[in-house]
Amino acid sequence: MFKINENYLKLPGSYLFSTIGKKVKEYALANPDKKIIRLGIGDVTLPLAPAVIDALHVAVDEMARKETFKGYAPDLGYEFLRSAIAEQDYKSRGVTIATDEIFVSDGAKSDSANIQEIFGENNKIAVCDPVYPVYVDSNVMAGRTGEYLVDSGKWTNVIYMPCTKENNFAPELPKENPDIIYLCFPNNPTGATITKDELQKWVDYANKVGAVIIYDAAYEAYISEENIPHTIYECDGSKTCAIEIRSYSKNAGFTGTRLGFTVVPKKLKCGDVMLNSLWARRHGTKFNGAPYIMQAAGAAIYSEEGKKQTKEQIAYYMNNAKVIREGLKSAGYCVSGGVNAPYIWLETPRSLTSWEFFDYLLSNANVVGTPGSGFGPNGEGYFRLTAFGTYESTLEAIERIKSL
Ligand SMILES: *Cc1c(COP(=O)(O)O)cnc(C)c1O
Repeated sequence: MFKINENYLKLPGSYLFSTIGKKVKEYALANPDKKIIRLGIGDVTLPLAPAVIDALHVAVDEMARKETFKGYAPDLGYEFLRSAIAEQDYKSRGVTIATDEIFVSDGAKSDSANIQEIFGENNKIAVCDPVYPVYVDSNVMAGRTGEYLVDSGKWTNVIYMPCTKENNFAPELPKENPDIIYLCFPNNPTGATITKDELQKWVDYANKVGAVIIYDAAYEAYISEENIPHTIYECDGSKTCAIEIRSYSKNAGFTGTRLGFTVVPKKLKCGDVMLNSLWARRHGTKFNGAPYIMQAAGAAIYSEEGKKQTKEQIAYYMNNAKVIREGLKSAGYCVSGGVNAPYIWLETPRSLTSWEFFDYLLSNANVVGTPGSGFGPNGEGYFRLTAFGTYESTLEAIERIKSL
């Protein structure tokens, strides 16, 4: 008789965005005349950049000819893409990453969920609270998190690092030593960043206690301020303690086409064992590779045209972020984020809970956002709005909120 992985049963029933979807659908059915504006889900809306589209056309034609047809991609990804990454994402920032430390993938969700597989079951994880839910959920599935306490919304075997207004949404070093530390900067959902000096403290701490940092830099391209690290490898000693995960989803609009990569330095070891070898083994065995067509499209982002066009897309979203941030501020809301990330994090007014404010905004302004409590216990009392809408709808949404 087969057995299921019972860890899956521990996961709270419904995923945040399905609950939101259900509520919005019900409201829309009951109010067919209302124009609903969605500033909730973290998905891009602009079409792929022309340089990317051109590269896709070329790649498709290559697949159509016997001479240029490609089958399975190399395990780690095509050299042309990995060298563009090494050159332009790292060397240009004074960081040396070898191409065999770069693993091309189908995106950061898979990598951030799968990376825990190379670690033993009895590691203790630490996460920012609130944060992107995939880190905790994937560790729940692996049986590493203990039991879920409904009252606190916490897992018994997870170290939560509160990110609140009091600490500027930047976590403090935990009192209890974790084995695996998940950091995500710029952060989803708070939009917060940390400085290079602050990140250096985490690197020093991880090296000291023998922890590994899994650094999710999915929003790196949105950094606009000086002194914010674009990669954890800008910090000294980071190659012995940090894995970095990147994605083309938010910086180049690949959410529907899928491409990302993960860096595992060869210096990162547990005893004599290189984590790079373990991840290479996993990639070789359990991953089919990102399609050639998408890797070619990814490489196009690094061309002069590609860089210019994707920068314009980010500027478009960040202009929306400014509209949201400043509009809400002028309406008296307490807001943060939106400067180095496409997310605005606001405190719910009048002590409303995150879900109460969701309902209030949906029924009074017909605007959909994301309740902060969906990202962790310390997200309660907060709310996330995203800058991925059109300029016009963003403007209208903010006008509606201002007139409430
Ligand atoms: C959107 C997001 C991802 C997912 O990226 P994909 O490459 O689309 O899988 C990863 N991490 C964070 C923090 C995100 O917000």
